[in-house]
Amino acid sequence: MSSTAKPVKPAKPSKASNKPAVKSEAKADSLICDPCETLGACFERHIDKSLTPKERDEQALFYAFAMSVKDQMLPKWRATRQQDRDTGNKKVAYLSLEFLMGRALGNALLNLDMNGESAQVLKDYAVALETLEAQEHDAGLGNGGLGRLAACFLDSCASLDLNVTGYGIRYEYGMFAQKLCDGYQVERPDRWLRDGNPWEVRVPSHNVTVPFFGHTESYIDRDGKRQYTWVETQDVLAVAYDMPVPGYRNERINTLRLWKSEATDDFDLEEFNQGDYTEAVARKNLAEQITMVLYPNDASENGKELRLRQQYFLSSASLQDLLNTWVGQRGPDFRDFARQHVMQLNDTHPSVAIPELMRLLMDKYGLSWDQAWEITSQTMAYTNHTLLPEALERWPVRMFAHMLPRLLDIIYEINARYLDTVAHHWPGDGGKLRAMSIIEEGDEPHIRMAYLAIVASFSVNGVAGLHTQLLTSGLFKDFYALWPEKFNNKTNGVTPRRWLAQSNPALAELLGKRLGEGWVKDLSRLSALNAFTDDEGLLKAWQEVKHGNKQQLAQLVEQECGVSFDPKMMFDVQVKRIHEYKRQLLNILHVIHLYHQIQQGKLTEITPRCVLIGGKAAPGYAMAKLLIKLANNVAHMVNSDPLVTPYLRFAFYPNYNVSAMERICPATDLSEQISTAGKEASGTGNMKFMMNGALTIGTLDGANIEMLEEVGEDNFFLFGLTADEVEALRPHYDPRHFIAKSQALSEVMSLLESGHFNLLEPGIFDPIIDSIRCPQDPWMTAADFESYRLAQVQAAKAYRDPHHWTQMSIRNTAASGRFSSDVTIGQYRDEIWGIA
Ligand SMILES: *Cc1c(COP(=O)(O)O)cnc(C)c1O
Repeated sequence: MSSTAKPVKPAKPSKASNKPAVKSEAKADSLICDPCETLGACFERHIDKSLTPKERDEQALFYAFAMSVKDQMLPKWRATRQQDRDTGNKKVAYLSLEFLMGRALGNALLNLDMNGESAQVLKDYAVALETLEAQEHDAGLGNGGLGRLAACFLDSCASLDLNVTGYGIRYEYGMFAQKLCDGYQVERPDRWLRDGNPWEVRVPSHNVTVPFFGHTESYIDRDGKRQYTWVETQDVLAVAYDMPVPGYRNERINTLRLWKSEATDDFDLEEFNQGDYTEAVARKNLAEQITMVLYPNDASENGKELRLRQQYFLSSASLQDLLNTWVGQRGPDFRDFARQHVMQLNDTHPSVAIPELMRLLMDKYGLSWDQAWEITSQTMAYTNHTLLPEALERWPVRMFAHMLPRLLDIIYEINARYLDTVAHHWPGDGGKLRAMSIIEEGDEPHIRMAYLAIVASFSVNGVAGLHTQLLTSGLFKDFYALWPEKFNNKTNGVTPRRWLAQSNPALAELLGKRLGEGWVKDLSRLSALNAFTDDEGLLKAWQEVKHGNKQQLAQLVEQECGVSFDPKMMFDVQVKRIHEYKRQLLNILHVIHLYHQIQQGKLTEITPRCVLIGGKAAPGYAMAKLLIKLANNVAHMVNSDPLVTPYLRFAFYPNYNVSAMERICPATDLSEQISTAGKEASGTGNMKFMMNGALTIGTLDGANIEMLEEVGEDNFFLFGLTADEVEALRPHYDPRHFIAKSQALSEVMSLLESGHFNLLEPGIFDPIIDSIRCPQDPWMTAADFESYRLAQVQAAKAYRDPHHWTQMSIRNTAASGRFSSDVTIGQYRDEIWGIA
């Protein structure tokens, strides 16, 4: 407002005006910048107002700078909300227990096109932008692929100008930090909010209360209808914290709304009145516990009560928020609600939203069952993320009855009505009823959340072609027979802003010079690179970019692992959660094989390589943790043998997270995507590597299949059994046979069994050895070893021809356009959400 009175000041933030002469003009008493103020002026005030000089350390400068960037976003953020209110377009809520956002500053500056301006501003403070960026704590509010997908989707939704809000939990402690102690994983709490979060805005006007426990009562209303209420509940306050999600160079700023649990003011008021003050205040901790910590299990559930509380807390708070907004604008008339809303459920984790929406519509707003069901079943959409049976969520009925009694009533009613449909479709088939019931009977009855989600959703999607095919022909076959129209595929993608433009600036610059800047918004344009694979200038530049990135990663590996990587060697990388189905073991066995070959002096097929493995194991997953120990012990033997290190180096990268991946994927030559076929739903790490010009060694699993389709067999190192072959072999799988048949594997097993890698700790790797030799090994490691080894020989051979390797690398980047999350979100928009 005051800006018009000051003629020297530009009317809009301008990249050209960056000189700090604005100081004297700054509003004296506000930390909120004038929307017309420059970034530089804003930054100066944040520093002047909030810090004493001695506190001007890099962390404090980062905080002030991020606050300034956020201030620059505020007008657009408000305008986006206003516009979405005014146009009244359909609104999508993306409900997810996880958002693995990583750092926000670099992404915000890229999307807002503020890098140049930022560098100018920071010049006056003698601090590099990269230095400030490195101060930011990763927002690690997720485990792995599922959480990172949610983050990539938010970027694409904003960049495609879609009215999509992410709803999640503001965990006090995100994904644990992984330390290594004597080669073992040790977990350390991740207090990512320790130094404050400059991006979030607490929005108390959106507070809602979420009920727990108590019981259901029924009564007859004025119209003589039976109604239900949930009474004597213990209510917890949900407080909204909003984070901005800027679109790529458009005017949109979407919102990620994260809920924090707090005690309501009247929490245990009764106790308080009885004079038990300290008890009452202490009990507040119970409410705050709900959003204290992220569960660190990837692809497995463990049935903990607190986890169900988190799921309900997120679901209820988010739905109440949507309904409050609707009623605030339209009054309690829900006839148009379903036309105006979609709730996309990221796996079954928020699927308790289904009975919760029914409850709110009936008990709070007085709708009939049929009206409430019509709305619920037309607005809920479910994304399945896994084929692993141990990952399918089931909650004990007993736990529900105690914690969410009213929701259990509703689930029973949904089930009863739905089983009528099943009985109609399969008359007289009691087995079908039992198999398809939402309630799994037994000594301890359970609620099958995936079945609930399918029954109540208008859309059910898998996340890659093979995955969706396996869902409809296996796990959900009966449901597919009943409702084929619900099922669809949406192959995952990753955002090219973070995973190429931001993480690989050297390659981005090269692409810009060759193709123009359009690829950032339209990744299919990368296919134009195929015309230049014989252009020696491009090949040379491509190699230089990769080499520079490898030098940087080598520095990081030296620093984090104490292992020296040589950028002239092939960088062979497998980073992802540690899980048996992902088969880090296969990779380690191959390293042992190479080590053995080199020691035996068999060097003819050896291409010097540096192998990097990284990832976190769930704290309760003993086998995964043992694999980390094995990797570290093998690495120690490899790296301490001077006969071996000219040809082979091996490191385990600790605390793998989004920021680490941003440095790793641009520097990778060979990407390991080696899961047992039929087990990896999609994978997204595979796509980040491909975009950055890595070649893949991989099985026919998840999105690997579609990557192979795009790039062609000549540019991909394919190996292993197919999903069908795995299942056909399973009943008579005999690992002994595969070990005997492969000299390489026999030697590796002998070396392992001799205790060569655990001389001081006899027997510790027996569980791993036994798992390989076990005919019931679900991951069939031995079956694929020889085929994997041969594919590695091919990769090694190919790497020895740098010219051809570089051509293949370019073809991989060129073929990666389909794996932009913009493409995926375009399909969600058109085929599920039905928004303009
Ligand atoms: C991309 C990503 C993942 C997913 O990797 P997959 O190889 O698909 O399992 C997990 N964690 C982080 C930090 C990522 O960036």
